[in-house]
Amino acid sequence: MKIDVLTLFPAMFAGPLDESIIMRARKSGLLELNIHQLRDWAHDKHKTVDDRPFGGGPGMLLKPEPIFEAVESLKRDGTKVILLSPSGRKFNQAIARELSQEKDLLLVTGHYEGFDERIRETLADDELSIGDYVLTNGALPAMVVIDAVARLLPGVLGDDDSSRDESFSHGLLEYPQWTRPADFRGLKVPEVLLNGNHAEIEKWRREQAKVRTEAQRPDLLK
Ligand code: SAM
Repeated sequence: MKIDVLTLFPAMFAGPLDESIIMRARKSGLLELNIHQLRDWAHDKHKTVDDRPFGGGPGMLLKPEPIFEAVESLKRDGTKVILLSPSGRKFNQAIARELSQEKDLLLVTGHYEGFDERIRETLADDELSIGDYVLTNGALPAMVVIDAVARLLPGVLGDDDSSRDESFSHGLLEYPQWTRPADFRGLKVPEVLLNGNHAEIEKWRREQAKVRTEAQRPDLLK
């Protein structure tokens, strides 16, 4: 999969996407990631990408010209253009799975007060929010989307089964888990996990996933 990102802050992407599983995916060619500076498409010598909103009000908006030109030059047949914005549909595991089927994503991140409305209306195939709060710019939301999507690409996780049974995959949170030692300071691992009866363990885990979801996230069961 190829993911392009349009941002005013390319340096923010160094670090989180240069480590661990995502870096391995990039090195192995399962994920191609290209971070683009939006100011490269600005027209004047000051590299201006924003202007005041018509009608007044606080802050600045991202102008249409640089974003339209950037998207037009980066987009190919089949590219899905996604705007990161608090007004978007709320990103979740089902959307991450849906996006992991795509070949080519272009993530457009905002800053200041956000985007000129024509960008939303005309350029974007989708608009995603990572939650009901407002961040200073779209770099962190883009990284959240990239991480959640990339780990679902076949071959990226050491064991593709890891993403099949985890939280949100079946509308439930994941069941509780323990590792060695079986007894730590008197805190014991449930007996059922030690007896080697896999059918019984699976049944117990399904029940525990329901119990945990009812307690922590009853909204998922609705
Ligand atoms: N004025 C906008 C509003 O009230 O909806 C908020 C703009 S925010 C300060 C600047 C940029 O950060 C947005 O254009 C978007 O790209 C990004 N952003 C902030 N919060 C976000 C969220 N929850 N999900 C996705 N992107 C977000």
